[in-house]
This record gives sequence, structure tokens and C-alpha cells, in this order.
Amino acid sequence: MRAQGKRYGIKRLVETIQVSENISRSMRNTPQKGTGPELKLRSALWKAGLRGYRVNVRNVVGKPDIFFRRARLAVFVHGCFWHGCPHCKRNLKPKTNSHYWETKIDQTRVRDAAVRSELEALNYRVLVFWECELTAARIDDAVALIGNELDRV
Ligand SMILES: [Zn+2]
Repeated sequence: MRAQGKRYGIKRLVETIQVSENISRSMRNTPQKGTGPELKLRSALWKAGLRGYRVNVRNVVGKPDIFFRRARLAVFVHGCFWHGCPHCKRNLKPKTNSHYWETKIDQTRVRDAAVRSELEALNYRVLVFWECELTAARIDDAVALIGNELDRV
């Protein structure tokens, strides 16, 4: 597959690339599966009594981070750097290899948009949260949004 070949090319490029301290800090802040912002959201959902979800669901398009099957609700937690958060755009702008990173982030954004429309076409509802929206001050809003969606079932 051509797309896959491209991805491997990028992987090799990543290995050889010099990453500035600024970027490596942003990358460390990027949620890996089951860590950081995603975990915070899950624990806030749990405390709010919003349970019955599954995590990193492989057999659903885009492998949602949090998935409520009965409500057909897919929730994604996006790392601000990798997914190109519109709120953090300026803060996270790479100083070196910016063209490389911008291309990579653009590809992620295109993929995210494709996943979203595919899920919506399959009659799923989609909620996306940026990691910067899941601070202690704001996480309740995220929980309330999810709660509203579940109430609509
Ligand atoms: Zn952000």
C-alpha cells in the first residue's frame, strides 16, 4: 500500500531528525494511550458516575479513546502538539524542522477529520477534547458535555 510505504519513510525520518528541546517537551506532553489527559478524563467520568465505556476500542473506526457503545458515542482526547490544536497553535510552533512537523501535523488533522466523518456516516456521535481543555479547571465542562450526550440516548 502506498500510504503505508509513506508512513515508514516518515518513521525513518523521525529517527534521524534533530528535535529541539521545545518540541521534545511538547512531545512528552502528548498523551500516550491510557496516560495523561485521557486518564484524567476517564477518572473524572468515573467519579461523575458516567461508566460503562470501553477504552481504545480497536474494532471501531479511529479507535476511540473512550467509547460508549449503547449511546453510539465516540470520545477522542487529542494531544495539542500532534493533532495541531487551534488554541495552542502559536505556543507549540516548532522552531526547527518546522516544515517537517507542520506536514506531519497536517496529515494527522486530515486523518482526524476523515475518522470523524466516517464515524458520523456510521451514525456515531463524536466528541473531541484537546488536552488543554482537560485542565483541573475545565475538566468538569468536558464531563458535562459527555453527560449531555449520554442523556440524549
Ligand atoms: Zn491545546
